[in-house]
Amino acid sequence: MWFLAMLWASCLLMGTHAQGSASFRRANAGSGRCQYTFMVDSPTEASCPSAGSSPEMEALKSRLGLLEALVARLVGGEAMSEASQGSGSQSGLQDAYNQVMGENAQLQREKQRLDRQVQDLQQRLEELRQEAERLRSRTCMQQPPPRVPQNDNSFRPGSGPALSHLVSRPGNTQGDKSSLRDPAWHHENPGYQELTAVVTEVSAPNLEGPADISGCGDLVWVQEPEVHRKADSIAGKYGVWMQDPEAKEPYGPEMVWRIDAVGSEVRQLFGYENMDQLSRGFPTKVLLLPESMESTGATMYRGSLYYQRRLSRTLLRYDLLSESIAARRDLLHAGFHGQFPYSWGGYTDIDLALDENGLWAIYSTNKAKGAIVISQLDPHNLEVKGTWETKIRKTSVANAFMICGKLYTVASYTSPNTTINYMYDTATSQGKIISVPFKNRYRYNSMVDYNPAQRKLYAWDSFYMVSYNVRLGKQE
Ligand code: CA
Repeated sequence: MWFLAMLWASCLLMGTHAQGSASFRRANAGSGRCQYTFMVDSPTEASCPSAGSSPEMEALKSRLGLLEALVARLVGGEAMSEASQGSGSQSGLQDAYNQVMGENAQLQREKQRLDRQVQDLQQRLEELRQEAERLRSRTCMQQPPPRVPQNDNSFRPGSGPALSHLVSRPGNTQGDKSSLRDPAWHHENPGYQELTAVVTEVSAPNLEGPADISGCGDLVWVQEPEVHRKADSIAGKYGVWMQDPEAKEPYGPEMVWRIDAVGSEVRQLFGYENMDQLSRGFPTKVLLLPESMESTGATMYRGSLYYQRRLSRTLLRYDLLSESIAARRDLLHAGFHGQFPYSWGGYTDIDLALDENGLWAIYSTNKAKGAIVISQLDPHNLEVKGTWETKIRKTSVANAFMICGKLYTVASYTSPNTTINYMYDTATSQGKIISVPFKNRYRYNSMVDYNPAQRKLYAWDSFYMVSYNVRLGKQE
């Protein structure tokens, strides 16, 4: 018993010393027995979790603290990085935004400027449209002042080259070239023929040529030009060439006549036996006219050359058989020497023309205020048989010709694609706007005339002698 008490006391002391935390309680267990309860901390329970200072807990706390610090650092770093990057991006975005806004403002200004230009162009277009309408509908307007030189000393009647009236020179082209050149003509001479004009173009519809019909009709189609000859000197830049639709002896119907119209003394008339000879370039006849010529409006009819005497309104009939002037007559009130020329100039005031009805003069007068006037002439004595006054200004068109008693005008002498733009019928005294396509292949058409026997237009387009087949349609 003693031993047990000592063991208990020792254990109690050791336990108390070892643990410093123990309790002892005594209680009545009933049935005459006492119950002693001794409680001491178990060594194994020292590792149990508790709210106190457990090493594991401390280690966890430490690790957690480390993790928290790491997380905080990471989160803080990312936040800082994001903040830093966000700041840079924001700055870049701001710059880009400012640039876009600047460009936008510039584009707005550009748009406003373009809008103004569009408005200006629309206004200009409307003005042009109104001008075109006005030109289509207007009648003739006041003519510009005459362009007659005050001191033209180049005209000296009878002072031409001392050649015989008839020179037969087969095969001598070199001689022809030299004789064609006129020493009085110079490129720089502003007073002679090289004149320009503004021409209103009319769009050319694409017309198919209808089938030919016999007899007269309206001009409905003009073929592409056919080239017959190119002049080989500057004297042939413009001129007139023709065939007599009713030829008389000694010349046959195949005879081709040519006059180079550049120069102040145009008097030479070259004859070729036929078209082939014209193409080869050998004239068989060279006739020297007794009086010099003006304009490119000459024509050949029934064995006579009809032309305007230079610096006058006098019409001459030169008889090929007698080689002399057979008739002369002033075309009363007709403008001349640049008063009422065609748009290309060339002193083309009086244009003589042929058609199925005979000989015509196309010209203008002060009374007509520059409008084209048509007179039918007696081919024998040049007497005026009838006169018509049109509503189209002569200086506004490039040339004119007659077919079946109707006048036709060419809109432009330079445009490669122009039109026959007006027709006047002497049978009804009515004119109207038309649009028949017409080609100026060489862009300087100085003469257009109709040959009723060949049913062709003959033209002289910048050195080139060309012809056009035509078709006539049913009369309206
Ligand atoms: Ca003509």
